[in-house]
Amino acid sequence: MTASIDRSKLSKEDLYHYDMLLSARDAVHKRMEYHASDALDAENLEKRGVNTHMADVSGDNSRHEMDLRLLTEDGDVIQLIEDAIDRLANGEYGRCCDCGEKISKGRLDARPYALYCIKCKSIREQNGGINPKFH
Ligand SMILES: [Zn+2]
Repeated sequence: MTASIDRSKLSKEDLYHYDMLLSARDAVHKRMEYHASDALDAENLEKRGVNTHMADVSGDNSRHEMDLRLLTEDGDVIQLIEDAIDRLANGEYGRCCDCGEKISKGRLDARPYALYCIKCKSIREQNGGINPKFH
């Protein structure tokens, strides 16, 4: 579990991003619940043999797979958000995990759980996800 944060110890800017992280986490949780119940519904229907028409079966299967894939992606975002909240609690929030420089406010506003500054992020994108300067 994520440590709870004493809001009074956060700077105004950190507090702003903390609230963004919390609402982003809420939104992802809601989406996960929606997709989880949808995926389970499809599974139950299959078990009860409700779908006998071939076209219906294949259509439902591909939708089911997409739901599960979305769940995985949301799971990753949740992890990123939890990590960002941990960094806030430790006073390390907003620093690039590669070079240690401050991540620009504009970037954090767009992506409050960003791990890298824009410079390191683009280096990673050009090198298949790694930063040869730091790894
Ligand atoms: Zn960096």
